[in-house]
Amino acid sequence: MSKFAWVTLTTNDTYSLGALVLAHSLRRAGTAHQLAVLVTPSVSEAMRNKLKDVYNVVQEVNVLDSQDAANLALLSRPELGVTFTKLHCWRLVQFEKCVFLDADTLVLQNCDELFEREELSAAPDVSWPDCFNSGVFVFRPSVDTFGKITEFAVQHGSFDGGDQGLLNQYFADWATADIKKHLPFVYNVTAYASYCYLPAFKQFRDNIKILHFAGKLKPWLIQFNSETKSASTPSEYAHAHDLIQLWWNIFCDNVHERLT
Ligand code: UDP
Ligand code: MN
Repeated sequence: MSKFAWVTLTTNDTYSLGALVLAHSLRRAGTAHQLAVLVTPSVSEAMRNKLKDVYNVVQEVNVLDSQDAANLALLSRPELGVTFTKLHCWRLVQFEKCVFLDADTLVLQNCDELFEREELSAAPDVSWPDCFNSGVFVFRPSVDTFGKITEFAVQHGSFDGGDQGLLNQYFADWATADIKKHLPFVYNVTAYASYCYLPAFKQFRDNIKILHFAGKLKPWLIQFNSETKSASTPSEYAHAHDLIQLWWNIFCDNVHERLT
């Protein structure tokens, strides 16, 4: 069994649909590595069983757990609850190295080479490229690192209230220290922001390795016609229509039948 794993997180049955499509996209791309998903207690039993069909590891994590000293400290910072949930990925110490992927990402091509990178490798954020986007990052599980980041969160909070602000504050030298930790943008292409530079999106779209549906409009919220099997992409996202359609094709081919 591989000592490397792709890791995602879901806190409800809706994001779990994203996690299911993501897992099938990884299998489709022929990854040699394991798949792990962190689930919170609010994910239904039925959904966990679906996740178990495609993930090697389905690990329950608590958002706030009074049994746990780190969580206790966070009880005074409840706004960090969801952020903190993502941090649980550092506890997957049965793996040597992992790549975290948001549940709203889609792997278009095999990316197993990412495991050659070191912690913390990530791609620039489109809106502020001196920050990395925390939807895709390479990390090394470690209880020690988990404790340090959690403590940092309690002391400093997060400048954007989410995991991205926190992780950018913690891994503060990412922008300047080591270019090898800068993943090329093709590993985390924001589906809806690329219209800012549409010619580049068109020029390089066949090179995209991981697509990220960052923002409010998740693919599972886009209207889908089950007779014609086509997604009704809003006109402002027309450039991304076939990628949204691809998400839905994987959903129809690999996920939908197994849900019913
Ligand atoms: N997430 C979740 N439930 C939520 C919100 C977020 O499970 O209610 C997880 C999920 O893995 C998601 C990630 O946290 O992909 C980050 O949130 P999101 O992708 O919505 O943020 P964005 O990329 O749009 O900034
Ligand atoms: Mn995301």
